[in-house]
Amino acid sequence: MAIRNVVQVGDDVLRKKCFEVTVFDEKLAALLDDLKDTVRKEEGAGLAAPQVGILRRVVVVDVDEGFFEFVNPVIVEAKGEQTGYEGCLSVRGKRGIVTRPNVVKVEYSDRKGKRKKLVARGFFARAVCHELDHLDGILYTDRAEKTENVRD
Ligand code: ZN
Repeated sequence: MAIRNVVQVGDDVLRKKCFEVTVFDEKLAALLDDLKDTVRKEEGAGLAAPQVGILRRVVVVDVDEGFFEFVNPVIVEAKGEQTGYEGCLSVRGKRGIVTRPNVVKVEYSDRKGKRKKLVARGFFARAVCHELDHLDGILYTDRAEKTENVRD
């Protein structure tokens, strides 16, 4: 387990489409463990593989509901709307107002390749949407109606 360096906006790796995971091996497990260590150290609500320079469809989300690992995640249903502040470990010192669905149903694989489903609501849903956007090279600043500077 290790803390990985979080790539910052301006780096091309954040703007690329990630590849599906096809091999569920120790390397994937190590990546997930490192994402967990890194998001906890950075006190983020989530972290996506491209944020540590890996173009794979892998994210972690760390919220009040618990710690979640999503491999090859897909949002299959979205309901409602919420508008609120969002930040990103790859866009330091800023926050922005973003509108997201209030409820999302996600299909994903666990670290062993087993397909699963989960429903996320409220801030959890926001975090899922934000992290999944990273897998397609989208940053919240692309969606924000307004961004402002904050102290880290
Ligand atoms: Zn982010």
